[in-house]
Amino acid sequence: MIQLQTFTFNPFSENTYLVYDETGEGVVIDPGCYEKAEKETLQQFIEFNNIKLKYLLNTHCHIDHVLGNDFIKTKYHVPLLIHKNDEPVLSSVKAYAPSYGFNQYHETLPDGYLAENDTVSFGNIILEVLFLPGHSPGHIGFYHKESGSLVSGDVLFEQSIGRTDLPGGDFNTLIKSIHQKIFTLPDNVIVYPGHGNTTSVGEEKISNPYCALNIS
Ligand SMILES: [Zn+2]
Ligand SMILES: [Zn+2]
Repeated sequence: MIQLQTFTFNPFSENTYLVYDETGEGVVIDPGCYEKAEKETLQQFIEFNNIKLKYLLNTHCHIDHVLGNDFIKTKYHVPLLIHKNDEPVLSSVKAYAPSYGFNQYHETLPDGYLAENDTVSFGNIILEVLFLPGHSPGHIGFYHKESGSLVSGDVLFEQSIGRTDLPGGDFNTLIKSIHQKIFTLPDNVIVYPGHGNTTSVGEEKISNPYCALNIS
């Protein structure tokens, strides 16, 4: 059975997800760990549960989601997979990290790319890749159909949506991603967002102030 462990790291309160199953194989999605204690928390969980990491995945490459990429890749020797359109977003982090006070950020380059309809397999888990641009140009989500779980990054939040004022962001594109790719999933799908609490597709469909469907 799929296990999704959430860690909330760094001053942006970013959600880092560790996804694994009974085989012990797993992936880290958006490691935001920066401080030594945050890295230790993640490392201790991985070791205590005997998790063998297979991949390092990024929903998108804003600084709060990639701060721990170098730590995970160096420690566990796993390939970093992102969407190609977010490569410029990733390469820009190095230049602006110090202005946010992150002087210890080390850049990690991707080892491969993911696109719409690709799958990421490990253990008995198959994650489907959804292309969800708008918050960033190469934003993707990871959907586990069997359990009805979506790791959605910064696209859809509980009662909110991702910001679109950063480079490569576009409001209409974001709304389109939500309506065409997320609101077409079953209502009971649990959304694991990049910030804040988990929510469900059905809940946001009826009550999200930015993108609720007009149900008459
Ligand atoms: Zn973001
Ligand atoms: Zn974020």
